[in-house]
Amino acid sequence: MIDVKWAGIDFGQCMMDTRKMRTYLVIGDACKQMGESDLIDVRIHKFRLLKEKYGSYSTVKRAHRDEIISYVFDDRPDAREVLSWVEQEHICMANGLEDALAYLCDQGIKLSVVSELKKTLGPMGTDVVSRFLERHNLTGYVRDVICPQGRFDVISGSVDLKYKGKTKEEGTIYDELARDLKNEGIAVSEAVMIGDTLWTDISPAKMRGFRTIQYTGYTDMGYCEDADFRISDFRQLKKIVVKKAKE
Ligand SMILES: [Mg+2]
Repeated sequence: MIDVKWAGIDFGQCMMDTRKMRTYLVIGDACKQMGESDLIDVRIHKFRLLKEKYGSYSTVKRAHRDEIISYVFDDRPDAREVLSWVEQEHICMANGLEDALAYLCDQGIKLSVVSELKKTLGPMGTDVVSRFLERHNLTGYVRDVICPQGRFDVISGSVDLKYKGKTKEEGTIYDELARDLKNEGIAVSEAVMIGDTLWTDISPAKMRGFRTIQYTGYTDMGYCEDADFRISDFRQLKKIVVKKAKE
């Protein structure tokens, strides 16, 4: 068990889960967006052929993205942008996430999304994280989104730009966070970072004194001495994290 006052949760492959994404729906929606509904069947069929060629949808999406554009979408100039937009709209939530966030909030633990998404973040409210939170009715649980673009307050919409350019991998985001939390009366030992990637979510946070929980529900990157706990389902947090009682 660990008792904390603040928890930071990673977004990519942690809060969000792309495995449940229905590829035929994504391709269909992309076609509609580009005004070519009549080509949906053709494009889905081509995507299936790519899957047969490379073995799985996830391999195609991860390693052969150029071929999706050139072969499935016949090199349409707007295909790349439309596809990534539509994919974001179809991102699913990790198992047990809402349950866990409700529990942590109920404990009085302050919650932040701490994300390394650099390019995909547009203005707050239109970026992938905000849209995800809104679409899944999670906005009420999270107080801010912290990323290399800044710290965005979910309620007021204000932006703290001192986080701009800071990253998780270099650990500079955690340096800034440690200072902000201290100003709120929260020590790093009363703060926990939850994420899947060892060199961005776990080790740099641990090095600064944060507690750490490695999420393995999407990818298990292996054991790491910097991870205090490992979870594969967010509901496991209920057995690990409790609010720190007042001294
Ligand atoms: Mg991640």
